[in-house]
Amino acid sequence: MIILYWLVDLIVITFVWVDRLISRFRVSRTGYANPRVRNMVGMLGYSSHSYHLSLPNIQKWLKHRTDLFPMVIQVQTINRCNAACEFCPYPYTIHLQEKRIMDDALYTKIVDECVAEKDLHDFVPMSKNEPLLDVKMERRVEEFKAKAQPHQMVELVTNGSGLTPTRAQRLMDAGVDLITVSVNASNEETYKRVMVGLSWKQVMSNLEALSKMNLSKVNIYLRFVADQTNKRELKLFRKRWKNFNLFQFNVNNRAGTVRNYETMVMKYNDFIARLRRVGGHRVYPVCPYVFSLMHVLENGDVPMCSNDWANREVLGNVRTQTIREIYNSPRMNEIRELMAAGKFEKLEACRECSFYHDWMKSPLAPNKDDWQIRSQKVDEPPIAST
Ligand code: SF4
Repeated sequence: MIILYWLVDLIVITFVWVDRLISRFRVSRTGYANPRVRNMVGMLGYSSHSYHLSLPNIQKWLKHRTDLFPMVIQVQTINRCNAACEFCPYPYTIHLQEKRIMDDALYTKIVDECVAEKDLHDFVPMSKNEPLLDVKMERRVEEFKAKAQPHQMVELVTNGSGLTPTRAQRLMDAGVDLITVSVNASNEETYKRVMVGLSWKQVMSNLEALSKMNLSKVNIYLRFVADQTNKRELKLFRKRWKNFNLFQFNVNNRAGTVRNYETMVMKYNDFIARLRRVGGHRVYPVCPYVFSLMHVLENGDVPMCSNDWANREVLGNVRTQTIREIYNSPRMNEIRELMAAGKFEKLEACRECSFYHDWMKSPLAPNKDDWQIRSQKVDEPPIAST
């Protein structure tokens, strides 16, 4: 086992250094005139961007137990979506929040603190929602970009249904750096099953129109969340959209809140599952979600982790506290200490989280194969409409 650890270490370190050396020579077809996103090309570009953003905070804290500021912040400006995707807990967690839009004063307070912090790199005005349902989105992007430091960028993650040419142009004029569209299918039949409630024709027409626009300043990524039911379409997806950047990852169970996860989860044999954890351990010794990311709900609440759709632990509220205060609170540091000691199981959300079980748990621990939902909050509530 020790030899395996060394081998994986060597591979990870070599990979990171080679990537560092070559990343400046990668130039994206979209966003090539934007220094913040021009080197983000394909799967490797996106993963490398996320990795290099999350690692410094982890290293700083593990070495010096120092104060941190999130490198990436997600802000939920509206708490609704227009879809009910098969791998998303939205339809059965919607009842946890009344329908609301973030007020301008709160949004400005968040923006002002973020732009004053050099560690903040990615500002994402989206979290557990469809951001284009917020009719003020262009103005919100513009406000952040007008005040931002040169290295600070805006990413929007959308299902693409509202990304009409007019809105796409307005967002580009407002200064959005990166738009990620969650597609997850390569034909109408699969799309209807996976992205329930959305129109395949509308999204395809928006993407076709987008591909003909001047995209020199905005990088476009199309995302594919692979599960047992759509994985065969990946090849076709890659072929069809080769002019955009593509990013694929496996479905995860959102801290144990995704129903029917056991029918979607990608299966690996015992050896490969453990090998993934050897690698995962070496790449991320602790979970980046509480060391480098933060997300803020529309009422200012800051739950521990954006993956936990049940918001089981709320750590503070940015209406009455600063982001820095919340991110360095005694409880936040207690959570970090638990993770540093490998005691994820002491945290309710992490205990059921596939991210922990697949990547961060000790490779010697048994693989998890029981993925039934344990959280009462998302167990049996009624399905609400959007
Ligand atoms: S392991 Fe915990 S902190 Fe990390 S993603 Fe899962 S629930 Fe969030």
